[in-house]
Amino acid sequence: MTLKINDRLIMTPGPTMVDPRVSQVASNKILGQFDPEFTKIMNENMELIRKSFQTKNQWAFPIDGSSRAGIEAVVSSLIKPGDKVLVPRFGRFGDLAIELATRAGGKVTVMDAEWGQVFDQADIIAKMHEVKPKAILVVHGETSTGRLQPVDQLGHAAKEAGVFTVVDCVASYMGVSIPVDEWELDAVIGGAQKSLSAPAGITPLTFNDRFAEEILKRKRVEEGVANDGSARSDDYVFSNYLDLTQLMDYWSPARLNHHTESTIMNYALHEALSIAVNEEGIQNRFANQFKHQHILKEALRKLGLTIFGDEEHEMPNMVAVEIPTGVDGDKFRATLLDEYGVEISSSFGPMQGKIWRIGLMGYVAQKYYVLRFLSIFTHVLKEYGVAVDETAMNEYLTEAYK
Ligand SMILES: *Cc1c(COP(=O)(O)O)cnc(C)c1O
Repeated sequence: MTLKINDRLIMTPGPTMVDPRVSQVASNKILGQFDPEFTKIMNENMELIRKSFQTKNQWAFPIDGSSRAGIEAVVSSLIKPGDKVLVPRFGRFGDLAIELATRAGGKVTVMDAEWGQVFDQADIIAKMHEVKPKAILVVHGETSTGRLQPVDQLGHAAKEAGVFTVVDCVASYMGVSIPVDEWELDAVIGGAQKSLSAPAGITPLTFNDRFAEEILKRKRVEEGVANDGSARSDDYVFSNYLDLTQLMDYWSPARLNHHTESTIMNYALHEALSIAVNEEGIQNRFANQFKHQHILKEALRKLGLTIFGDEEHEMPNMVAVEIPTGVDGDKFRATLLDEYGVEISSSFGPMQGKIWRIGLMGYVAQKYYVLRFLSIFTHVLKEYGVAVDETAMNEYLTEAYK
């Protein structure tokens, strides 16, 4: 072996540490993409994705690519030039939604909330009635600020108004319950390298029949695969790779040739989902992350640090903490990484230099890692001359982890 990868404790809101069982499964032999052994794994992955989203949707499959490929597939399959789109923005991933909708030719109306806050769903619904968009694109777990936007009321209201809801659940997926059917959401994108704790490169998503019917109007089967009866819409999706209408043929008994599916990423997805859905149970996984997130947050408070943002709407799988005055946040992170192998995140835009973001996503949400992190983090804070109350933190931790 020529590649030496050093040991890391990754406590970022993505990518996250991967369960060694998942990496091991991914080191298996390659299977051909139409090998029945592999198509069986594909079908099982579809079923696991359905369970993870608590949905009966037929359409639940992964996109080969990181999470934004999943969002882009949904957005570019739905949005045509001139379509009106509403994006409530409360952080950096709202900007990504705007970017993707704009690239698809959409006319985007943006609503803004202060970073660190979320929207009242009634305000989004009111704006929707005013704008009358084709779709609302909303982020559920906004990792740039650590906020969780409630979306349980949006789907129903949008459906009544003939509007589609597209929800970026990349970072909330496997971190909080996302009952897609109960919330009546049309298209929902999850993520692999956040709370699912799988490598980046594959993205689970689901959409309902209403959404499928809409995008199928744009179906165009490529030359070479098409036969006389194949759909050849003039209104086709611009992207070939991310065209959901072609991917639907691939992820169904038709198994129409499209791209070469990544077999090893499907093994990894299969293992990560089996662990979360069948072994741990998704409710237990949510509860476990929330427990460690709460302990980490309170421990940081005991040390004397300030937690950022509207606490009522925080993501239960990460902590956003204010950088202590006088500390250069990026230099501090470099020390953590270079000298101790520990990685945390900075943030974007108005939050840059103001907060650090610490992830407790999936596999890393364990007592062993939280204590290891806090011990090194405290050590480096002291190195940087920050006055911390270590005794208060340790007393708290002894109780909390009893
Ligand atoms: C991480 C993240 C993404 C982007 O995911 P990639 O896998 O990096 O493409 C999108 N949305 C949210 C909310 C995220 O946290």
